Amino acid sequence: MNIYQAYKYCPRCSGEFEHKGKNLLQCSQCKFKLFVMPSLAINAIIEENGQILLVERKNEPNKGTYDLPGGYIEPNEDPMDAIKRELHEELHIVGEVQKIISILPDIYPYQGIDSPTLGICVLVKRISGEIKPDDDAKSYKFFDKETILEENIGFESIKKALKIYLTQ
Ligand SMILES: [Zn+2]
Repeated sequence: MNIYQAYKYCPRCSGEFEHKGKNLLQCSQCKFKLFVMPSLAINAIIEENGQILLVERKNEPNKGTYDLPGGYIEPNEDPMDAIKRELHEELHIVGEVQKIISILPDIYPYQGIDSPTLGICVLVKRISGEIKPDDDAKSYKFFDKETILEENIGFESIKKALKIYLTQ
């Protein structure tokens, strides 16, 4: 179901929400307005020796497909700190952000609800650490730039970000 169907009750008074159009939900009781926003995510392109690193997703959604390493930005977290934290958690490496490649919307189907996301893709240079997959990453592999888009990549926005990077 979409996120407007999923958010049924007002967090202030538990009254029923009405979908007022676009991204606005309004409580039928206390008139509280909730504007549905995308969740912010950040992913890293790490290129070494002409190849780009992808991780195999350990969990749903899109379990078993390839993805760029990364994850959600936490409240009050600097996105550039978030990607460093994710790279440490998923791969046990220390990375340095070089530049922003793209910022793209997507849909994240999770626990029966399709949630909107906005994903920042950044180019990252590995500074230190041996790559060791952990957390959400089951395995990792470096792919040739020429054929990486033919791999089983789960999210459309990740494919698009790679395309943007490869045609720069
Ligand atoms: Zn209410």
